[in-house]
Amino acid sequence: MTQEPVWTFNAGSSSIKCAVFRGEQECCAAQVEAIGSSARLQIKGHDPIPLDRGVKHQQALHALIQGLNEKGFDLKQAKAVGHRLVHGGTFFQKPLVIASKQLAELQKLRNLAPLHNGYGLDIIEELLLSFPDIAQIACFDTAFHSTMSEVASRFPIPDQYFEKGYRRYGFHGINYEYLSEELKTHNAPSRVLAFHLGNGCSMAAIENGLSKATTMGYSTLDGLMMGTRTGNIDPGLIIALLRDEGLTIEQLENLLYRQSGLLGMSGMSNDMRDLLSSNEPKAQMAVEYFVTQAARQACSLIPYLGDADALVFSGGIGAGSSIVRERIIEKLAFLGFNVDKSANDARALRIDDIKSSKPIYVIAANEEKMLARHVMRMI
Ligand code: ADP
Repeated sequence: MTQEPVWTFNAGSSSIKCAVFRGEQECCAAQVEAIGSSARLQIKGHDPIPLDRGVKHQQALHALIQGLNEKGFDLKQAKAVGHRLVHGGTFFQKPLVIASKQLAELQKLRNLAPLHNGYGLDIIEELLLSFPDIAQIACFDTAFHSTMSEVASRFPIPDQYFEKGYRRYGFHGINYEYLSEELKTHNAPSRVLAFHLGNGCSMAAIENGLSKATTMGYSTLDGLMMGTRTGNIDPGLIIALLRDEGLTIEQLENLLYRQSGLLGMSGMSNDMRDLLSSNEPKAQMAVEYFVTQAARQACSLIPYLGDADALVFSGGIGAGSSIVRERIIEKLAFLGFNVDKSANDARALRIDDIKSSKPIYVIAANEEKMLARHVMRMI
């Protein structure tokens, strides 16, 4: 008997990613990218198909389902569907089967996380309507960090704000959970510093597979410098930008989320590949800031672990760029980490100098597989 497949959906502001799994095996993957500009449907192993310029997420979703149907993957045959939701607040700390009652509860998170959850929730709502017989299961990026202590999850502001939910949630948790499970299969040591370096960047301090601390906070702005986001900056600067520069809240939000980071510093691109291949001093400065900030943030997590026994790199930059990994590891040599240049250039699973170093791993991000695992464990 063939196993019924599990589908996964991962929606962001300009893309919807989808994958079909049988057990651990990914049978097909597809995405609609550049929604809002030159949207196109990309089914893995096939040429991209341009979509109408004006397509919104709902039409993109149906184009995705139709495109996969034409390749022999019918959503109606799915056993269940897993969805990535970035923010579960303090309430949702485990994957959740969604029916209308849960959907109503989740809608409240739209207000808590207006920039994060809307697209994922819209897709769940649409699939509940169009495919009412298929279980829809939501998985939350924040859930992995629910094991952080109060010290790791608080900001030093009065209690009344903490109780209202102004606290460090942390993000990228679905990938950190995936990395933890993979590291376990490789018998990695217990205290790991994990780098998720993509368009969004964060780090987690993980002990025995559990999150002890993380660099992103209440929002996805804190911690490491990112493609277009600042990461950690002086809060006094925000007061000055509002008071002395007269920025509106919208302008400030745009500046911090979309005009800063690698793009803002280089004045050129938010893509690390462009900056690494440029001789422009500003591009080189942005890269140096990025690797220094990554090492600085790594050190900020050490007190939550006592020490770091291993490093793991993931995300588009973390798994893609040997030079960025090398430059970060060089700055952490005092902790006992040394890179093996040829293993690093070959992007091996282990890139440490085995004679003289604690283990350093490179593992590609795979949120889809973690979503599928959660769904299979629930059904
Ligand atoms: P997201 O956070 O949107 O999931 P990814 O993890 O896919 O993003 O990371 C995308 C970013 O990774 C790109 O913007 C680019 O800067 C960077 N990137 C991808 N491949 C490489 C590479 N081979 N070398 C350096 N940077 C890369």
